Amino acid sequence: MTDRAITTRVIYLGGLGRSGTTLLERLLGELPGVVALGEVVHLWERGVLAMEPCGCGEPFPACAFWRQVGERAFGGWASVTANRVLMLRRRVDRTRRIVRIAHRDLAEYVQAYRLVYAATGARVVIDSSKHASLAWCLVTSGVDVHVVHVVRDPRAVAYSWGKTVARPEDGQPMTRWGPARTALQWSAQNAALELLARRGARVTTVRYEDLLAAPERTLTGLVRELGLSGVPELPFVDGHAVWLGPSHTVSGNPMRFHVGWVELRRDDSWATGLGDGDRRVVNALTWPLRARYGYGRAAG
Ligand SMILES: [Zn+2]
Repeated sequence: MTDRAITTRVIYLGGLGRSGTTLLERLLGELPGVVALGEVVHLWERGVLAMEPCGCGEPFPACAFWRQVGERAFGGWASVTANRVLMLRRRVDRTRRIVRIAHRDLAEYVQAYRLVYAATGARVVIDSSKHASLAWCLVTSGVDVHVVHVVRDPRAVAYSWGKTVARPEDGQPMTRWGPARTALQWSAQNAALELLARRGARVTTVRYEDLLAAPERTLTGLVRELGLSGVPELPFVDGHAVWLGPSHTVSGNPMRFHVGWVELRRDDSWATGLGDGDRRVVNALTWPLRARYGYGRAAG
């Protein structure tokens, strides 16, 4: 471990996919001194091995930012390193193993992340890997991590997972889940992140709907919670429009490639798009956690 590794602060965005983590990461990445890395959990397979494009548009091996990170962290990216980390990940970084996370391979697995974070040279990095299991690995290993738990109405999440969307990386369709599977995943991920807070980890919960309804107020509150000093205003937020600058996010939802102004608007298309039967399934499988976040039976 290098000295730099100890001083890099990590903001870890947790939650189920399609809950707004990519948008929130891009926004936080606009803050001075904060560097958005994307879903670092997928760096090894999608970046190093599959050479998928970085958020800047360059293929991973051609991105100057990631090339420098790889050189500093590992003396350059090598498939042997990526495969080693993937093997360790299969052993220690799995949701169902959360309760017995004290595995002998954990230190080596987390060290790979520490080296990546430190090699960015940033004071604060954002890792939007989302999975509660990786958050557990980082927290239990003593990484300076603050988890931002992003929640979204499970009915909107289920509607999103049911849609056909092409991956900009390769044109292939993104993974689709049915409403029951989405609802179970929603409950499992959110419950695991809740548990993290109860075990003493620093966790701040943000509702995606609040971010869309009041971007500046929500971000200002979050910046304060995260202890990010020296941020008197958010010049990249103008009412409901937000500016997203270029970034080097290694993986994430298609929004990671967007550069420019984006109008934030609440998307309630699930209310008409999700069938009654599907809605009943999601409602049943996400109760009572759903109520805890304010997604009641009647309210959106
Ligand atoms: Zn890049």
